[in-house]
Amino acid sequence: MRLILLGPPGAGKGTQATRLEDKFGIKQLSTGDMLRAAVASGSEVGRQAKAVMERGDLVSDDLVIGVISDRIDQDDVAGGYILDGFPRTVAQAEALGALLAKKGSRLDVVIEMQVDDAALVDRISGRFSCGKCGEGYHDRHKKPAKDGICDKCGSTEFKRRADDNAETVASRLKVYHEQTAPLIAYYREQGLLRSIDGMADIDMVTGAMVEILEGIAATSGKAAAK
Ligand code: ADP
Ligand code: ADP
Ligand code: ZN
Repeated sequence: MRLILLGPPGAGKGTQATRLEDKFGIKQLSTGDMLRAAVASGSEVGRQAKAVMERGDLVSDDLVIGVISDRIDQDDVAGGYILDGFPRTVAQAEALGALLAKKGSRLDVVIEMQVDDAALVDRISGRFSCGKCGEGYHDRHKKPAKDGICDKCGSTEFKRRADDNAETVASRLKVYHEQTAPLIAYYREQGLLRSIDGMADIDMVTGAMVEILEGIAATSGKAAAK
């Protein structure tokens, strides 16, 4: 199964991707995580991406397409993947289409998560994650069960993203509406789009996604059985 989680910054793509990873046994591929790792390692890609990410702009299409095309060629994602944060422009979507066509594969579905801008600002401003295992949390909506201790790995180290501040958030939302939102129509025209209410609580959103993916798995299973 190959799918895209499409939605604005803070919509809950990463939160849901982690859950779908466990449930369906497919990998989350987050270009944001890959780029942050590149920045942390000081690689050439990271050097080019750092200032752009801090401003809340998009890294160049060529750079991200290069990163993702290397990644989807690796063996561990032969069974499928969840694209989180890619594609973000029509040019990236077209490049992805071409990469997949070359491999003789295709996308199963694009799930669009609809969340109001006001809720996004609240989600991003309260976001933090475990410094060790990466589990995502929120100051109000998803606190660790025990204050200061990661539910998943027990670590007491947490971190916040450098770009999760009020000024950068405004520019990331603007960039989303201008450059990424056109992908909604793009994938609708291809018959791949499913939209869900991302304002619902985390479990409800997971439920809606699982329903869509189980529906797809059932129909493709039937097609294969014929
Ligand atoms: P994205 O990957 O789309 O940028 P995240 O998954 O990191 O978004 O979620 C942003 C923040 O909002 C996190 O702190 C997360 O815990 C919280 N969050 C995610 N989904 C929901 C939801 N449905 N309701 C409330 N808070 C949520
Ligand atoms: P969020 O979904 O919370 O906005 P991400 O972790 O997906 O955050 O992205 C963080 C930053 O990384 C973006 O603001 C952008 O600068 C860069 N980035 C991530 N994915 C892409 C992409 N596909 N194209 C261009 N820039 C990207
Ligand atoms: Zn942890």
